[in-house]
Amino acid sequence: ASGYSLLRNPQHNKGLAFNEKERDAHYLRGLLPPACVTQELQEKKIMHNLRQYQVPLQRYVSMMDLQERNEKLFYKLLIDHVEELLPIVYTPTVGEACQKYGSIFGHPQGLYISLNERGKILEVLRNWPERNIQVIVVTDGERILGLGDLGCQGMGIPVGKLALYTALGGLRPSACLPVTIDVGTNNEQLLKDEFYIGLRRRRATGQEYAELMHEFMTAVKQRYGEKVLIQFEDFANHNAFELLAKYRKTHLVFNDDIQGTASVVLAGLFAALNIVGGTLAEHSFLFLGAGEAGTGIAELIAREMSKQTKAPLEETRKKIWMVDSKGLIVSSRKESLQHFKKPWAHDHEPVGNLLDAVKAIKPTVLIGSSGVGRTFTKEVVEAMATFNEKPIILALSNPTTQSECSAEEAYTWSKGRAIFASGSPFDPVEYDEKIFVPGQANNAYIFPGFGLGLVISGATRVHDDMLLAASEALAQQVTQENLDKGLIYPPFSNIRKISAHIAANVAAKAYELGLASRLPCPKDLVKYAESCMYNPVYRSYR
Ligand code: NAP
Ligand code: MN
Repeated sequence: ASGYSLLRNPQHNKGLAFNEKERDAHYLRGLLPPACVTQELQEKKIMHNLRQYQVPLQRYVSMMDLQERNEKLFYKLLIDHVEELLPIVYTPTVGEACQKYGSIFGHPQGLYISLNERGKILEVLRNWPERNIQVIVVTDGERILGLGDLGCQGMGIPVGKLALYTALGGLRPSACLPVTIDVGTNNEQLLKDEFYIGLRRRRATGQEYAELMHEFMTAVKQRYGEKVLIQFEDFANHNAFELLAKYRKTHLVFNDDIQGTASVVLAGLFAALNIVGGTLAEHSFLFLGAGEAGTGIAELIAREMSKQTKAPLEETRKKIWMVDSKGLIVSSRKESLQHFKKPWAHDHEPVGNLLDAVKAIKPTVLIGSSGVGRTFTKEVVEAMATFNEKPIILALSNPTTQSECSAEEAYTWSKGRAIFASGSPFDPVEYDEKIFVPGQANNAYIFPGFGLGLVISGATRVHDDMLLAASEALAQQVTQENLDKGLIYPPFSNIRKISAHIAANVAAKAYELGLASRLPCPKDLVKYAESCMYNPVYRSYR
């Protein structure tokens, strides 16, 4: 290959970091200015440039340009500055990027599969240059973060999630494939937007939708085999539960909104129990919001309780109550409920609002997963604090504006007694001369390590016990020092190490369940996981 094309190949390009010998050997003389620099200096320069931008979206565009120009530098930067760059490459900035994807669209990333490709999806997959794919993240764009239907412009989400798979979980970038399924959009604003990049029609539903998804799922297995992980991301709940239930029997599938959220929240609860005391089964739970996140978390909690106490799932579910937009979910509503809510309809008289539900159920743990902000009011938090010495309060709704309450509110209203974590980050809070550090129940703690564990064991199916294994591994990474500050998640700066531990625990479970195909099982799974992780340090070219 010529030096000119080497500089334009993002997988191999090192820019000014090509040394004198490499410049001679690879026909790069004259194509670069004389200075030779280190990767560290390149990082320093780019961070300096990024910090000049006042608008987060500019930082996003600049990061995407870097990914297209010099892949190793992009990942090195992301790993070394994970706390600063995560909010750019992923939520919240990626949300704004998706909303404006049409106008910032430059270089296409990922694979677009629309209704126009019906009957030809296998051919479309063949157009993708990489043959060995280990992880696919796929969206249909119908429920992007808390922003609703963004149609084809949801592509930012699979691209961002896969960047985290590589940076945090160490999967090779070339083994990751972002996919957007375009069946139209019901977003009127986008349909009218001259820069919209997707199909200009309303969403296909029913059989037409199911057939396209099925063709996609079939083609993926045909092209990449049994062991490719397909992560469903940001599907609306009316499709998400069904797709997961249907394909978990035949494919290696994982829904991060349902299962990943569940795993990360359960990990936080395990850690919280070290502060509050008691076993999971000795606690009682009330959720505000009974959708993908809420019922997914609830199911995993019930499952773990059932494992610990040997009580049947039907019994342990009774410790968990849910409030949706119509009030407490109770038996008398059962007929009219969506199927995923039915397990949570217990015997109780109807209760119309959250405050009354809190007073009636007296939960020890209150979890917000409704997407509606400011719903954990002063009265609600105070009620939690009247019958709990240390109420556990998780305000999971994203982005920050939708959070059920702020960290400051939770600590102040509970007089410093709440154990608090949230979906979106909050700064530490000083109350009564003590500093409280709120944890962030970010799915990025779990899915990269979880995926790595599946890949290194050659797992062929996802089993719920693997989610429990991931939760345990994450909770084990929380130190006493973290807990002393009220922090129920470990700091993000150690995320690669955390991911390796999660991967090892998930892989161990895959072997134990007989779902692993990579035999024999390595002796030290943590070391093995670490040794498999992609490392973006430059290689020297002879
Ligand atoms: P979803 O499937 O649409 O579910 C939303 C649920 O909230 C539904 O049960 C809905 O009730 C209920 N709800 C809506 N408005 C309500 C109100 N005013 N009062 C009571 N209940 C109300 O959404 P999702 O995927 O579960 O996501 C929900 C939120 O969780 C989002 O903000 C998301 O960002 C957040 N989340 C956080 C994390 C994390 O922290 N790691 C992970 C995933 C999701 P009906 O069924 O009656 O309409
Ligand atoms: Mn999501």
